[in-house]
Amino acid sequence: MRAIAVHEDVVVAIGAIWKTTCTAVRAGDEAFLIDSPILPDELEALPALLEQAGFAVSGLLVTHADWDHLLGRYAFPEASIGCGETTAARLTAEPGAAQRELREFDEQYLIDRPGPLSLPGVQALPVPGYCALGAAELELHPADGHTSDGTAVWIPWARVLVCGDYLSPGAIPELSPSSSLDAYRATLKRLEPLVEQAHVIVPGHGEPLDEVRAAAILREDLAYVEALAGDDPAAAPLPLARRDGGNRKLHEYNVSLLGAG
Ligand SMILES: [Zn+2]
Repeated sequence: MRAIAVHEDVVVAIGAIWKTTCTAVRAGDEAFLIDSPILPDELEALPALLEQAGFAVSGLLVTHADWDHLLGRYAFPEASIGCGETTAARLTAEPGAAQRELREFDEQYLIDRPGPLSLPGVQALPVPGYCALGAAELELHPADGHTSDGTAVWIPWARVLVCGDYLSPGAIPELSPSSSLDAYRATLKRLEPLVEQAHVIVPGHGEPLDEVRAAAILREDLAYVEALAGDDPAAAPLPLARRDGGNRKLHEYNVSLLGAG
């Protein structure tokens, strides 16, 4: 896990698996952690790492309900969890899904956890809306499309956008069984003005980006998603820098989901 201070109040840690990011944001004496790393030793190291940097984490936020973003309570068992309404609804509609998928992942890679994942009392936050942090406020924006739920967090004073599983420098847009291409496109359009104002964009997977790079990825992702919505999704061209084997497989997976729908 690598940690990068992208602003005096914002630290991003990038996990070893899938470059999953988590972002600590501080206002005064209070700090929240958005999303989580995956490996047990990364989760164990996080409290000391953030404490040393002066971040006293009291709350967790998650960008969406995919299991790989929900593990913050292993690092901060006392912290409350907040998420957008769509994510709270998905967690309620699919009870135990995240726990099951985490268990399958752990079994496949022989990973031991200190205990099962608990997600008690998840607090649903209105989106679009605001979330108080100390004397400051985080802005919450709808970001569905990758899944049926999703929230992007805008940190106004730092000009940092934490967007969830969008704008990944290493991976093309990833659909899921609950995806909607229309929603995906709408989310990219909604993120566009935020990207333009941002100093740093933190994708769910991959290194933090500056606004020029993020805007270029956004344009490529929009073109790809629009091509997927066209007559021949299988022929949708992949962005130039994301045509490796992994992304071709991901493209086949996306196309298979569209066929199923
Ligand atoms: Zn993810």
